[in-house]
Amino acid sequence: MIKLTKLEEPSELKIARERFLDKYLECFEFSDEKYKKKIEISSSLKNKYNIANVKRTLESETHGKCAYCESKVRHITYGDIEHILPKVHRPDLVFEWTNLTIACPQCNRIRKNDYYSVNEPLINPYTEDPGEFLFACGPMIMPKPANDKGFITQQLLELNRAELHERRKEKIELIHYLIESWAQANGPRKAVLKKTLLKYIEPSKEFSFVLKGYFKACGLI
Ligand SMILES: [Zn+2]
Repeated sequence: MIKLTKLEEPSELKIARERFLDKYLECFEFSDEKYKKKIEISSSLKNKYNIANVKRTLESETHGKCAYCESKVRHITYGDIEHILPKVHRPDLVFEWTNLTIACPQCNRIRKNDYYSVNEPLINPYTEDPGEFLFACGPMIMPKPANDKGFITQQLLELNRAELHERRKEKIELIHYLIESWAQANGPRKAVLKKTLLKYIEPSKEFSFVLKGYFKACGLI
């Protein structure tokens, strides 16, 4: 997970919010500071936030990756529009630009368990730097010791699930040959190799968080 920056809200979302939010909220009742579903949301109203330009803009601010696990979502399948605070708990934020991002189907499905805590929300990569809560240890993403937010986020999003662990490990093993060459090189050759290696931790690259940790451990950065 890396820090992300919101782009400008597409006007289509604002229009959808003005047209449909009140209708959407009519399906809920609000009492004791909580929303509870009153009636089923009609299928025509359910996905009104799912607008092509909204999705395109979100994909560009997440660099075509899942905002949580950094998998390139377009490689596997199209990512889903994800509500950072779940829409079942916060239907008032269903059309809220700052509450939307892109998640891969796996992270999205896990989030469907709908963990929601006002006091201990998961890491929000737009407003917080995930590196303050998590660190990379080889192919693993670990919570910093005694860091509740890091721990809850890592556990609930299953950030070390087998498939992710395997792919990160493969990537590290592959890149290690380049690291070896860099470590043994001198002069301009070393500088060129470093430049090549640094491309792997650009925000658009898959698993850049883990690779950054690995590069730090190797003394590259
Ligand atoms: Zn994911």
